[in-house]
Amino acid sequence: MKVAIIGGGISGIITSIGLSENGHEVHLFEKTSSLGGRIKSKEKQGTIFDVGFHVLHTGYSTVKRWIDTDAISHHKMHPSSILFTPSTQKSKLVGDVFSAPSTLIGSATSISPFNALRLLKWRMRNKKSDDVRDKNSRKPIDIGFTEHGFSESFQKEFLKPLFAGITLSEERLESIEFADFIWGVMSKAPIILPKNGMMSVIKHLEDRMENVAINLDCEIQNISSTEITIHGEKQAFDKVVIATEQNTTSQILELDLEGEERTTRTYIYKTKHNPIKKLQIMLNSEYNSATSPFVHVHSPTALSDTDNHLLVATLIGTPSREENWELADKNMSKWFPNEFADFEQFSSTFISHALPNSSIEGSPRIPLEVDGLLIAGDHTNHPSLHGAILSAEKVIKSIGGV
Ligand SMILES: Cc1cc2nc3c(=O)[nH]c(=O)nc-3n(C[C@H](O)[C@H](O)[C@H](O)COP(=O)(O)OP(=O)(O)OC[C@H]3O[C@@H](n4cnc5c(N)ncnc54)[C@H](O)[C@@H]3O)c2cc1C
Repeated sequence: MKVAIIGGGISGIITSIGLSENGHEVHLFEKTSSLGGRIKSKEKQGTIFDVGFHVLHTGYSTVKRWIDTDAISHHKMHPSSILFTPSTQKSKLVGDVFSAPSTLIGSATSISPFNALRLLKWRMRNKKSDDVRDKNSRKPIDIGFTEHGFSESFQKEFLKPLFAGITLSEERLESIEFADFIWGVMSKAPIILPKNGMMSVIKHLEDRMENVAINLDCEIQNISSTEITIHGEKQAFDKVVIATEQNTTSQILELDLEGEERTTRTYIYKTKHNPIKKLQIMLNSEYNSATSPFVHVHSPTALSDTDNHLLVATLIGTPSREENWELADKNMSKWFPNEFADFEQFSSTFISHALPNSSIEGSPRIPLEVDGLLIAGDHTNHPSLHGAILSAEKVIKSIGGV
């Protein structure tokens, strides 16, 4: 079959690899000048950094099926987070004592036995699940945290900022089943950070695309189930797959999806005196978009042998919309009063429509097939790399071998 795939993010890439390896004639169209979509790294003065805080969960079964993580040079994230309180400069540790027994003492003094037991129960219950249990659930994450028995203070200090960072939503507008799944994945296997940025995951997949006709700088319009318009000219296909992000797909299909647009911005500093010594996140236990807006800070170079470390401070939601180095400097000088004088503003990144709106807000998920068009993308599933790859696997299965 001659198949057109519109969109060169991870779902379009996996769909094109799967179909071309099944003998189909695959044409991939991407509107920008490179593949990867929301998985994006940049380079400045020889330094590579990611657009947004992005990691690779090796616990996803889809990652095991499609990505040879051994072939990608990477560091493992330390299985712990520092809960940092900017106003008092106090730090606590929450670690996964199974993966890193050395965090036992630090964690035991930080979390009450009551919450520690609940974390353990949460882990045991979800470690085996391979996907989000009930994708149509509309039970919000925060209600689920309370039903799971976590204390209010532990939710505020740890769970809420952690999942605001994961969902890129100040109100964590996802279902508790999504949070359950992600917690299980995080307990199952290491989280890794490629040394040359998340883009190296895309480069690794590109090696399997030799039989795919890749068309970059190609924004597709006038899409029907058998015809698309490429630079003003119509071309016919046996099947057309739309693998664009939620807002574009809903425009193409003329659907009216409402909800918060998820945005995120990072401010990246260079410093010779890195205050973060491990590959872990410093989570803001006082996170509040108005009063203490940075959800976390991390250093992707913490394990690298370099004199110039990167320190990445992440904003989500409203405060992330406009670039404001003054806001970043004001907050980072409070977080790191002893080291800030040495910080050099290096770069900032921004991404709009960073994640799809969830079903919590009432947006129905778009089905696999609409008017003969096949639909892939994280928004058809849930907002993660796993959700995006699962959607691609569904499309591959529905078209089948030649
Ligand atoms: C900052 C950030 C951090 C994240 N962190 C994580 C994480 O740690 N773990 C995790 O599991 N997930 C994470 N995610 C989510 C994950 O990156 C996405 O779910 C996934 O990349 C979505 O892939 P996709 O193929 O569905 O969509 P996209 O990557 O958005 O791909 C869609 C593509 O379609 C192209 N396109 C649009 N319109 C047209 C057109 N008309 N013609 C041709 N091409 C078109 C776009 O340019 C784009 O390349 C993160 C996302 C962001 C933004």
